[in-house]
Amino acid sequence: MTTQATPDIKSPFLQQQPVKMLIGGQWVESASGKTFETMNPSTGEVLAHVAEGDSEDVNRAVAAARKAFESGPWPKLTPSQRGRLLLKLADLIEQNTEELAQLETLDNGKPIKYAKGGDVPLTADHFRYFAGWATKIEGETIPVSIPNMFTYTLREPLGVVGQIIPWNFPLQMASWKLAPALTCGNTVILKPAEQTPLTALRLGELICEAGFPAGVVNIIPGFGETAGAALVAHPDVDKIAFTGSTEVGKKIARVCTDTLKKVTLELGGKSPNIIFPDADMKFAIRGALNAIYFNQGEVCTAGSRLFIHSSVYDQVMSGLSEGASRMKVGVGLDPTTDMGPLVSQEQLNRVTGYIETGKNEGARIITGGERPGGDIAQGYFMRPTIFDGVQDEMTIAREEIFGPVVVALPFEDVEEVATRANKSIYGLAAGVWTNDVKKAHKVAAALKAGVVWVNTYNQFDAAAPFGGYKQSGYGREMGHAVLDAYTQTKTVWVNLR
Ligand code: ADP
Repeated sequence: MTTQATPDIKSPFLQQQPVKMLIGGQWVESASGKTFETMNPSTGEVLAHVAEGDSEDVNRAVAAARKAFESGPWPKLTPSQRGRLLLKLADLIEQNTEELAQLETLDNGKPIKYAKGGDVPLTADHFRYFAGWATKIEGETIPVSIPNMFTYTLREPLGVVGQIIPWNFPLQMASWKLAPALTCGNTVILKPAEQTPLTALRLGELICEAGFPAGVVNIIPGFGETAGAALVAHPDVDKIAFTGSTEVGKKIARVCTDTLKKVTLELGGKSPNIIFPDADMKFAIRGALNAIYFNQGEVCTAGSRLFIHSSVYDQVMSGLSEGASRMKVGVGLDPTTDMGPLVSQEQLNRVTGYIETGKNEGARIITGGERPGGDIAQGYFMRPTIFDGVQDEMTIAREEIFGPVVVALPFEDVEEVATRANKSIYGLAAGVWTNDVKKAHKVAAALKAGVVWVNTYNQFDAAAPFGGYKQSGYGREMGHAVLDAYTQTKTVWVNLR
């Protein structure tokens, strides 16, 4: 494979050989000198060589984070100063929108229009929202029933936090993890996914430029089984925050038990999206397309089980296949692209494997199911795919595919669909399409999911809590709910007698 001609972006980032990691305020190569390749999924070519972190690099980063937590300028900063650093970072992200969006698209494959209009501004917004919390993390005074005691609580940071993120929204995932941890006064070691390390590292440069003290944020690119596992097992890490697959989440939870690290997990999903016959069909069909095909279906909340009332089944199916076939599948940097490539050859193989399994188990492909040819044949593309003739028990209706594949499931009534929708090990998200307000609230209450969208889908906001029921994880991100995940409560008793 050849290294791709450097695209026209202003950053010297892609010229670095290799792209370095951030430890204790210094940009360094890995202790082993090893590097790994990150690919451009639109072309299948090497995009950059990146320093490959392993346990020795993790040891150094944890030591730097510990030092920054215990001494030096960080613990002495006032909440207002911490907030201002986060605001400054948000401004720098905005000022570098074009470059960050291009890096995100090159590394992940997602369409540039979404990277620029969604990922980057939402990342800046996340830091800005949590900047405001720095001055509002309050303890309480407790009216204990023991005379002469003055009792109050302090909310203190946890310490050194290890954060492991996936490849589907690399920059946004970094902000979901970093912003609340930092506003609460923790220090961090962030491990981006091996498929998409670039924007987290460019964000690291902006973190240094914003003026965060050395060691407060350390960024170690590398593989899960090496760098990730070393971080999870490290005895001087106080907490692990993880977003990724349920399978890896379980492994992490097991290892964290050994040192009783605190752990929060945002894991997989197989989210039901339910269309009732009284919905506004134009919006429901458009919503169902967005629910599954946004970000190539590489979204943990993807509406991958589409329940359609039998009376409108044919109408919805024809609207869906028409919408899916109209979507432009193309290279990420093309501004007219609606759906980019999958992130990697491995992910393409996984999605292709599920499509084969679906066919073998007797489901029928209505549209898609194959790779586009022509001038994009080298990239990891898969056409938007719709399965019909699906049974709830089939593999494609139960397992997370994490790609542009939706299964259509007809239903007859409200109780039936709620029961079937809840029959999953997952409980991350769900969608409901109806114009009947009573039905909307009843079904929202019945669904076992951490978020329910009514007449909309895939909405996220820094102020609104997000996280899973069941095997979709535990803990919440965003909103004030996440502050509990990055602070611990100290109760102080003062005898006034
Ligand atoms: P996917 O299968 O979609 O790539 P993963 O759950 O494997 O999702 O990956 C999410 C993140 O978890 C990535 O940063 C990856 O490197 C990391 N990871 C994978 N395996 C482990 C592990 N055993 N310990 C710690 N981190 C891991």
